[in-house]
Amino acid sequence: MRRLVGLILSLLVSGGLSAPAVTATPPSDRAPGARAPAAPNVASAIVAGRVNRTSLFLPATYEVRASLNFASARLSVISYMVVTNRSGGGVDRLELNTVAARLGAMTDLEATVDGRAVSPTVSDQTIRVPLGGVLPDDGSASVRIAFRARFRIGVAGHNYLFAKHNSTINAYRWIPWISRATPFDRPNFGDPFVTPASRSVRVAIRTDQPMPIATSGRRVAVDGLTQTFLATNVRDFNFTASPLYRRLYGMVGQTRITVFHLPGGPGQALLDETKASLYRLNALVGQYPHPTYTVAQSAGGYALESPGHVWLPPVESWRVPYLVRHETAHQWFYGIVGNDQAREPFADEAMADFLTRYTLGSFRQGACSSSRLDLTIYDYSSACYYELVYVKGANVLNDARRRMGSEAFWSAVRAYTQAYEGKLSHTGTLLRFLDSRTGVNLSTLFRTYFPSLY
Ligand SMILES: [Zn+2]
Repeated sequence: MRRLVGLILSLLVSGGLSAPAVTATPPSDRAPGARAPAAPNVASAIVAGRVNRTSLFLPATYEVRASLNFASARLSVISYMVVTNRSGGGVDRLELNTVAARLGAMTDLEATVDGRAVSPTVSDQTIRVPLGGVLPDDGSASVRIAFRARFRIGVAGHNYLFAKHNSTINAYRWIPWISRATPFDRPNFGDPFVTPASRSVRVAIRTDQPMPIATSGRRVAVDGLTQTFLATNVRDFNFTASPLYRRLYGMVGQTRITVFHLPGGPGQALLDETKASLYRLNALVGQYPHPTYTVAQSAGGYALESPGHVWLPPVESWRVPYLVRHETAHQWFYGIVGNDQAREPFADEAMADFLTRYTLGSFRQGACSSSRLDLTIYDYSSACYYELVYVKGANVLNDARRRMGSEAFWSAVRAYTQAYEGKLSHTGTLLRFLDSRTGVNLSTLFRTYFPSLY
């Protein structure tokens, strides 16, 4: 019995019971598709037919092997997903989101479903994977995706999401992830993504030379040039990497913070501000959920949130407190409580900026006169997106706090965070939740800014 328990434990620890089995060797940079495809799964749940339907309610786990050639700025990826249909009806395709499709000059794209080759197609930043039939509700399928990509050189425009610059690699939204077709192009720096959380993401990255890698997960193994990371309950897994990175460490409660910075970079300032942010936000919003938090100096572009991981581009030192607080606040709003960042940016950006400005005492009037806070990122101009959704959005939430009283407001925010942990929420859900936790009528306030919701 003891031996059996030991065997089961060792299988669990080694990942031996998880499916699909993935060998420890990452793909060769030359031949990411060289691994023999799994034998067709005779027990496949997929049945013949068509329903012309996909869904966001397809929880998936991801086992990914990547080969990063830093010198040539290339990435080879094989991702094994186990997808379960919880959408309440049949689906016959996946719509996987990756910016590699838009920015990475993606080639050699291949996919199999339950061991059978299918023909994926790419449109904008979406890989559409036909399942070869219908996956019924509650059915599961194993999906393998392989591709190669090339990082942009330089961080101009949106290129910073998938780029090499300053001896650093930025890799955002590179694992093809369950999503729905969402346009990449927008007139501002809004995040054109919507991704449900995954309970398990295991990523092995082999590099062509030794280098620290800052990721959404915690590092669980190092084997030569291959580093393996595990992340749980995350809606993305991103990384930066640089052979020049130095590391600084800190703890806040049970959370281990690692700052990855370049020589001469503001490592200590990033660490100090990250610790201050976590202390404050843990108390206001609820406990940060991951065992690790990595803060990385990125190749450039905008500061950007990821689950358990944030990017700070090279910036003037006076901007560090605001940016660290804002991106750390996204750990709760976007990370723990998800939303469609493209279509309802208020739900995460206004909350993140409100938390930032509340803890820094830096509220100010927005510079744009419109009062619409219920639009998509595609509807705001470059000049007004930030001024409205972030600055004015923060003011509206602060107004709600003042009307409710701080105690009732923060209690409501914590209850909302718990109620929607791991889920995708909406702007209307947030506003109605706040409204339901107070005797004060907030709808008169919200009606001005959210005419499509009130
Ligand atoms: Zn933000």
